[in-house]
Amino acid sequence: MTALVLLDHEGGQIRKAALSAVAAATKLGDVHVLVTGDAAVAQAAASIAGVGKVLHAADARYAHDLAEPLAALVASLAGGYDHIVAAAGAFGKNVLPRTAALLDVQPIPDVISIESADTFVRPIYAGNALATVRSSDAKKLLTIRSAAFDPAPAEGGSATIETLPGVDSPDVSRFEGVQLSTSDRPELESARVVVSGGRGMQSEEKFHTLDPLADVLGAALGASRAAVDSGFVPNECQVGQTGKIVAPDLYMAFGISGAIQHLAGMKDSRVIVAVNKDPDAPIFQVADYGVVGDLFEVVPQLVDALKK
Ligand code: FAD
Repeated sequence: MTALVLLDHEGGQIRKAALSAVAAATKLGDVHVLVTGDAAVAQAAASIAGVGKVLHAADARYAHDLAEPLAALVASLAGGYDHIVAAAGAFGKNVLPRTAALLDVQPIPDVISIESADTFVRPIYAGNALATVRSSDAKKLLTIRSAAFDPAPAEGGSATIETLPGVDSPDVSRFEGVQLSTSDRPELESARVVVSGGRGMQSEEKFHTLDPLADVLGAALGASRAAVDSGFVPNECQVGQTGKIVAPDLYMAFGISGAIQHLAGMKDSRVIVAVNKDPDAPIFQVADYGVVGDLFEVVPQLVDALKK
């Protein structure tokens, strides 16, 4: 069996989540990867351990990862593959369902375990139950939760590279521009440590109280939806059912009550630390370590202690 992995990348770098998708796909058989745009990324993809072939979609219509042309391309390649796999990020969630619609198959999102070639485990009900699903579709299209699969090594492979021609697709979308936020911090979904703030941070300005802590820990910054909706931080920081799913080694929650929709995005973290002034806050039910107190007093003390 051969699986095709849609390899997403940004700024010339293959995302760590995409390497997890490769690792997941190796459980299904041989692995080919599809890379759009940048030739240097296709070269880098050829070095990923476990990858047998890189399909490089160099045509300009794929340069911006627009879902419509890309889904048409992937659907045209599907004949050669039993499985098509992508990380469950914005890229995969954009392209894979459209491809599934073109192929008339049911996509299987958010897979956390591959039991066999047709049987997969995925969370349902905001992570409160796990469903084991068996697909009878001829083609299985999966997105995988990257936290559940250790990334494939970026080095060690020596795949061949094949350049693909463009395929016809409906002319229904065009690229206008992109606004990317830049940050020196690690990517939220793949960070080892996440420092998150909630409504208890009080304001955009006071949210920066967490910066020195994130700096000293080399952490990504996350947030609850309440913090995002209040404009303290941008949308891309949201953790939870309708935000990003994270499972770092250490998740620190400040001024976050622990609503079920937030827990859905972080409760699989290895160690959870919560700081909240309400001793009955539900976040303490999932926390390994909890401090009942005012975060504006606790955070500076933590930073001082960590610096020592
Ligand atoms: P609150 O619940 O208001 O909690 C603030 C906490 O801060 C309180 O516990 C308070 O005791 C504490 N606090 C205040 N001041 C301090 C202080 N000085 N020191 C210490 N502690 C302090 N939420 C998400 O986070 N992610 C999602 O993806 C998400 N998706 C949703 C999807 C749907 C369909 C719905 C209906 C809701 C969703 N929500 C999501 C919203 C969720 O239900 C909660 O409203 C939200 O998580 C609450 O955010 P919070 O904990 O920051 O705010």
